[in-house]
Amino acid sequence: MKAVKLKKGKEKSIHNRHPWIFSGAIQTIDDDIVDGSIAPIADFQKEIIAWGYVNRKSDITVRVLSFGKAPFTHDTLYNLIHRAIEKRKHNPLLTHTNAYRLIHSEGDFLPGLIVDLYNNHLVFQSLTLGIDKLRDTIVQILIDHTNAESIFERSDHPGRTAEGIEKRSQQIFGKTPAEIIISENNMKFAVDVKHGQKTGFFLDQRENRQRIIPFCSNKRVLNLFSYTGGFTIACFKGGASEVVSVDYSNQAIDVLKKNLYLNNIKGNSMEICADAFEYIKSCTTKFDFIILDPPAFAKSRNNVQSALRGYKELNASALNLCNIGSLMCTFSCSRFISMQDFQKVLFLAAIKANRKISIISKLHQPSDHPINIFAPEAEYLKGFLLYIE
Ligand code: SAH
Repeated sequence: MKAVKLKKGKEKSIHNRHPWIFSGAIQTIDDDIVDGSIAPIADFQKEIIAWGYVNRKSDITVRVLSFGKAPFTHDTLYNLIHRAIEKRKHNPLLTHTNAYRLIHSEGDFLPGLIVDLYNNHLVFQSLTLGIDKLRDTIVQILIDHTNAESIFERSDHPGRTAEGIEKRSQQIFGKTPAEIIISENNMKFAVDVKHGQKTGFFLDQRENRQRIIPFCSNKRVLNLFSYTGGFTIACFKGGASEVVSVDYSNQAIDVLKKNLYLNNIKGNSMEICADAFEYIKSCTTKFDFIILDPPAFAKSRNNVQSALRGYKELNASALNLCNIGSLMCTFSCSRFISMQDFQKVLFLAAIKANRKISIISKLHQPSDHPINIFAPEAEYLKGFLLYIE
């Protein structure tokens, strides 16, 4: 049988259910296995131990879809999708929201596939050639088993370059409106799934937005890297006296203003379209609560050191804007930086800024972005709620 054959000893990670097979672990790939197709994976004794899709152009040459001898079939795919949907249906943290991630790649044992739900409209995102090839089958299963009114494809993630595939953004089912209004825990947000960042909204901060609400009463807040104001609205819900939101994207600031209106917020809001690093440098007033949610500084393993320095400088500068007794909620969304590394960065920032800080909470990605216990390196969002003296 045609197969991907592993080098001796490299079967161990498959026995541990790790879904990635790097090029260095592979002895041979039979010639007639075409890139993007699903193939059996055999150990050095030619025993089939898993099934996955192949892409010779990618460092992660195979992503495993099922473990064991049994072939990967349409039913296997259906079951994986079905279980991802069921998991969310019974999640009490999603009761008061109609927008969440329905399928989270490795976290739902479907590497390379993201599906987000926005109030009955789905966004499909493929990160790999293997998922591109399965797209029509997956879309049909989604149509049959959800109440989706439309599906829009946002396969424009930069990670596709490493797979040697083009970016794509297009309507694939029904008609997706230019703007979808979602509700999240009694807040409303306007989302542009066709042009917004990620698939339109930072669904991954939902539980952290909720977490900070009780801490906001009468606080003067600075929300840096605000995007469309997810945290801004949460702060006002929590009784903030003033929120200054800063983002360099004009479109994001426009939607933020709309979100203030949608939530009937009459509080003291200042929206600033500017570079956050410049803003911090020139800011002369202090705050009672600072939220720092920058884009990932480490895009690969190669720039972790410079990213750590960047986080240290940014956090130290933000600490200088904190009143005594204030709070800071700070994030890293890079999967190459661990919680421990990030904590060390904050320690170094505290030393540099000469401030006492203590950790109130450690923050994570939410329950609709589950972490595959066999592939913990796919965990990306880490944060801390800090008390600053
Ligand atoms: N906290 C937000 C998500 C932030 S994502 C939420 O919950 O929705 C990061 C944001 O940083 C993006 O909106 C991006 O436009 C913005 N951004 C990136 N670099 C920036 C910079 N140098 N200055 C200001 N904003 C920046």
